[in-house]
Amino acid sequence: MKKHIAVLAGDGIGPEITDGAIAVLNKVGEKFGHEFEFEHLLMGVCAIEATGEPLPQYTIDRCLASDSVLLGAVGGAVGDKRIEKLPGHLRPEAGLLKIRSALGLYSNLRPAKLFPALAGACPLRKDIAERGIDLVVVRELIGGIYFGDRGRGVGEGGEFAYDTEKYSVMEVERIARIAFDLAMRRRKHVTSIDKANVLESSRLWREVVHNVAKEYPEVELTDMLVDNTAMQLVKNPSQFDVVLTSNIFGDILSDEAAMITGSIGMLASSSLGATKRGLYEPIHGSAPDIAGKDIANPIATILSAAMMLRDSFDLPEEAKAIEAAVNAVLDEGYRTADIMSEGMKQVKGSEMTRLIVDRI
Ligand code: NAD
Repeated sequence: MKKHIAVLAGDGIGPEITDGAIAVLNKVGEKFGHEFEFEHLLMGVCAIEATGEPLPQYTIDRCLASDSVLLGAVGGAVGDKRIEKLPGHLRPEAGLLKIRSALGLYSNLRPAKLFPALAGACPLRKDIAERGIDLVVVRELIGGIYFGDRGRGVGEGGEFAYDTEKYSVMEVERIARIAFDLAMRRRKHVTSIDKANVLESSRLWREVVHNVAKEYPEVELTDMLVDNTAMQLVKNPSQFDVVLTSNIFGDILSDEAAMITGSIGMLASSSLGATKRGLYEPIHGSAPDIAGKDIANPIATILSAAMMLRDSFDLPEEAKAIEAAVNAVLDEGYRTADIMSEGMKQVKGSEMTRLIVDRI
């Protein structure tokens, strides 16, 4: 199989971690007889410096012509005056929203799994962690309040600002189907998150999700209010299998779900739309505080590459080979600084990549 992969390494640790994923994909190609071609493109602060825009049209066009997209992370250091003075639409993060929308990626899947070898890194009480964490947040990605009508004006109370949460039946149906299809391949349980006690958009969300659920009689559906979900994730995360959310609720809850598994450097994500072309990225940001020191954990990006193989290229065996190699390295006690604990062997980011490549 031959595949053309667009690489948006981005900023900070982005180039280090995407290099790790590329090395792993090259090894998979060698071992299983596939050819992966990589095309590096600009997005983020590096694109602003080179072209004045966070996401040049050329990058969008080349991503659209690719079979899939691998993204590192974008964004400058907090407090970087050059970036903070830019208007919203020219900030690095605007490029993220734009590429998702340009590629029509309406669903974002973020698995949050507690690796047995890293159980010690879980910040939850031992008896809670022991019950296990293995859930996937399915987040709607190109609708809702992040894309709704917004503005500022002046009224009786002085200046005001507003953002609008708006969802159509079609938008909720298509993301709900992704969640139910995924649940059919997992433990057959969907928890749909809303704030239906207050928000009209949530009441529509709930109605539509219940209608879609009728197509999946084997899947159990639970409705949960978003505030309760924030509590349940720390109280009893083992109850969750597939967690279906709107854009903003998913943004917040998926960070919480990531945090309870111990390290942000371990978790991958995929964004997909109506086609097989997806965008795969670690859930963490560009970590400017550790960029260039070769201490960033490449595993989240490497596992994102595994998701690409499974979900975009239909190569489940190859994906499993990567996941098994990651598990083997962790079982052997190798750790990057972010997941280091007593008695383990600390390695640099590039060394972690090499160890994983060697075990494929
Ligand atoms: P961050 O995820 O970059 O970093 C949070 C903390 O986790 C830092 O201490 C960092 O060193 C650590 N960390 C993150 N990834 C790591 C890894 N792979 N290995 C080891 N440690 C790791 O979040 P932040 O500091 O809030 O944001 C930094 C920049 O990233 C900002 O400009 C922000 O806008 C951007 N950001 C981008 C994305 C994205 O590209 N999808 C997502 C979140 C934040």
